[in-house]
Amino acid sequence: MLKEFRCDLHIHSCLSPCADLDMYPSALVSGSLARGLDIIGICDHNASENVRYVINAAKKKPLTILPGIEVTSREEVHVIGLFEELENLFEMQEIVYKFLPGVNDEKIFGCQAIVNEKDEVEGFNEKLLIGATNLSLREITEAIQNLKGVAIAAHVDRESFGLLGQLGFVPDDVHFDALEISFRSDANKIRSEFPELADQCIIRSSDAHGIAEIGRAITIAKLCEPSFAELKLAFKSRNGRRIVL
Ligand SMILES: [Zn+2]
Ligand SMILES: [Zn+2]
Repeated sequence: MLKEFRCDLHIHSCLSPCADLDMYPSALVSGSLARGLDIIGICDHNASENVRYVINAAKKKPLTILPGIEVTSREEVHVIGLFEELENLFEMQEIVYKFLPGVNDEKIFGCQAIVNEKDEVEGFNEKLLIGATNLSLREITEAIQNLKGVAIAAHVDRESFGLLGQLGFVPDDVHFDALEISFRSDANKIRSEFPELADQCIIRSSDAHGIAEIGRAITIAKLCEPSFAELKLAFKSRNGRRIVL
């Protein structure tokens, strides 16, 4: 039987330099449950060290955590990769680190804390996570999809780091599984401004960098159960699964 599930597929943790320090794993889980979410995606900028701890913090709780990452392309466009398994995410992480130059300056960009499910600091990521990789949009989406993940263009309507805001179009040679619009936008507006996107799956996410922002925009998905496989079917409108915005 199909049921409607509340999804926020783009949430940062305290590993992202621009996110609040109180975005640690256990707080992400309790904040998401408080907003009645069923599925969340954890997507830090070019990094993923906190994802396993969010999964641990959500054990035995009615909340599905999708392992994710928000990669910055060399065109300065943000792409979300969501995966079924942590192993797939870690493989993606290796690719991203190979092509991510620079070292973080905490005083300028902020702290990049790795925090476990018991709220203990495990360490700090030293890489320049706020920077852009040397990977093209096409290379990023293909790498995600080769690892059986879904590639989502993040906050497409936003002028900074959004696909349509930055490039003004979806390149012919790049295939996205879904386009994400920000909490300020609505799908009908995007579809009327960009009629060529009529066939694209559109979702809404919060892009939360603070606890209060979790769930400020969500996607309702009609699924059999709250899982990555079911969500992937919904992105393609297969077997009755679908996105209800
Ligand atoms: Zn972004
Ligand atoms: Zn983001």
